[in-house]
Amino acid sequence: MEETEKKEKRFGLVGKDISYSFSKGYFEKKFKQLDLRDHSYENFDLADISGFKSLVEQCNLSGLNVTIPYKEAVIPYLDAIGETAQEIGAVNTIAFTENGLIGHNTDAYGFEHSIRPLLQPHHTNALIMGTGGASKAIAFVLKKLGLGVTFVSRTEKEGMLTYQALDGDVLKEHTVIVNCTPLGTHPNIDEKPDLPYGFLTDKHLLYDLIYNPEKTSFLQEGEKQGATIKNGLEMLRLQAEKAWEIWTS
Ligand code: NAP
Repeated sequence: MEETEKKEKRFGLVGKDISYSFSKGYFEKKFKQLDLRDHSYENFDLADISGFKSLVEQCNLSGLNVTIPYKEAVIPYLDAIGETAQEIGAVNTIAFTENGLIGHNTDAYGFEHSIRPLLQPHHTNALIMGTGGASKAIAFVLKKLGLGVTFVSRTEKEGMLTYQALDGDVLKEHTVIVNCTPLGTHPNIDEKPDLPYGFLTDKHLLYDLIYNPEKTSFLQEGEKQGATIKNGLEMLRLQAEKAWEIWTS
């Protein structure tokens, strides 16, 4: 029997091709700090979401995080989902309760609490670059905070902008810009979304969901123009902390 199987409280991350996991390191450190020797955290790499059922049946789990590409695909396997996760349509945390498996979205909590202190009255409209899983939680939060939201995509889609449409007028109107694309993630640190960066000013707030590197090319360009910048590390920590609160409440 593996060491981890002897532990009484087993947690983990479900995803695909999990080469590196912030969560594993984060929770292992937490368990050590809290002297929770009977707690463990593992990466569960599933080639297909159909493996989720047997994972749950066989592993006697106490809580799970969910990452790319299963945040939406996992929903049919759950017994219920919380209101926020329902509205967003994505789950990143699963609680194992008397009432079954309950899905939550703590990305929204993490983003909300990390961006809120930076918002100013002139931040009324936001651009969200990228239309993948994470962008849904970001849009949900920004709308909840009262901002108008416009998505930017590489492909033309109704109600959205393409990168070619971004000019001085669009950037003047949208003073919050959130990068929800993987562009600029290590090791491709020279990549950045295709924006006319010269139109950014000190009125802009640039938020990058990426946390590795700490300051992406996108954020560096914003900083050069005097914009306020923020990376995704605090969001990541806050979403993990909220997951812990859910599992232990
Ligand atoms: P995803 O599902 O892969 O979606 C990313 C979106 O970015 C795509 O839907 C696509 O939108 C756009 N995109 C992809 N490749 C692109 C390229 N080469 N050029 C321009 N646009 C591109 O990823 P996700 O789950 O939404 O996550 C997005 C990023 O946020 C990732 O880097 C992830 O690590 C990070 N993240 C961070 C946190 C945190 O706590 N800090 C939490 C969640 C996610 P279009 O096809 O519409 O252009």
